Amino acid sequence: MFEEHLAQLQTQHLLRRLRLTESAPGPVVTMEGRPIILMAANDYLGLATHPALKQAAVAAIERFGVGSGASRLISGTLPPHQDLETALARFKGTDDALVFGSGYLANIGLIPALVGTGDLILADRLCHASLIDGCRLSGATFRVFRHRDPAHLEQLLAKRTGRHTTLIVTDGVFSMDGDLAPLPDLLDLAERYAARLLVDDAHGTGVMGATGRGTLEHFGVESRLPFHMGTLSKALGGSGAYVAGPKPMLQYLVNHARSFIYTTAPPPATAAASLAALDVIRNEPERRTRLWTNRQWWIDGLLGLGYRIADTASPIVPVLIGEAEQALHLAERLLQLGVFAPAIRPPTVPEGTSRIRTTVSSEHRPEHLTQALAAFRQAGQELRLI
Ligand SMILES: *Cc1c(COP(=O)(O)O)cnc(C)c1O
Repeated sequence: MFEEHLAQLQTQHLLRRLRLTESAPGPVVTMEGRPIILMAANDYLGLATHPALKQAAVAAIERFGVGSGASRLISGTLPPHQDLETALARFKGTDDALVFGSGYLANIGLIPALVGTGDLILADRLCHASLIDGCRLSGATFRVFRHRDPAHLEQLLAKRTGRHTTLIVTDGVFSMDGDLAPLPDLLDLAERYAARLLVDDAHGTGVMGATGRGTLEHFGVESRLPFHMGTLSKALGGSGAYVAGPKPMLQYLVNHARSFIYTTAPPPATAAASLAALDVIRNEPERRTRLWTNRQWWIDGLLGLGYRIADTASPIVPVLIGEAEQALHLAERLLQLGVFAPAIRPPTVPEGTSRIRTTVSSEHRPEHLTQALAAFRQAGQELRLI
């Protein structure tokens, strides 16, 4: 039964396999013993290997050990957790913040804590799988609106019946397309229709906005949104997630979010590393400058070769291909040529929109990008894609 299913996936070019990266994340990694230019990580600012984060993690291990020993509500809340939550609240300009083990855990805990049976969720069609799972778990009625389409959202809001809570759900930066949610429009609608808006800023935190506070800063709407979530696992280079918002709401989550309560507290080292990451975001703005310069160079290069790219506003630069088989062949050829960028296929993206998802980081040097672009030229020409 398992074998049959896997064989079927293989025929459809939809089989996924784990691939080993044999070195630390960075602009160049080792795969199968070869140096490979990595155009795929979400470590946009190179913080996963930043000396300040590594030192903070090592120091936390020396002081508090490797594991936190229990869940947060038992005895697992250690000084690094508290310090991180205080620093996140200061960074985000909110009352307080609450740290979860991962973005996935935050979303499947937060949404069911906010809405339940009888309530309504309206979510962007392309929002992240963890948000969708949270929506399903909540038991609320769950509808999707067309991607980045406030007019469609308004139609659905106008059709509501009853007085139950409505939650609008969206990514800030969409993870497979790199485009941004129209937050000012969504906020207007949320206010007009007395709905709540949940923004998942996993890919915006550390990257978007003048000081890297995220997509809310980018749009100048921070003071209008009482709460939002984001992760510590992308630009912040570590792991975990947070919800930033008013104290009573976070206390409510401490009491009701099952994925916060029934899991061991994150290791003290990861919390300490995230705390150090916030300092780096503040003190090394040149990383963001390099990131945006690299992104523009990369986009201009791909367009110059004749590739079609998605309507991105972030360091996520998807190269649109179409069929899963073609995307897969391109990714395989790129890897032979020393560049790793994965083919993203259904069900992660809709049928017919398979793509190579490339990302740039502040740590790519001009020679990395030049070499990666040469591989895209050669592979694209061989496969008659450009
Ligand atoms: C990556 C991602 C998550 C999951 O975060 P993890 O910390 O990796 O579990 C949630 N939401 C969005 C939009 C993401 O891109």
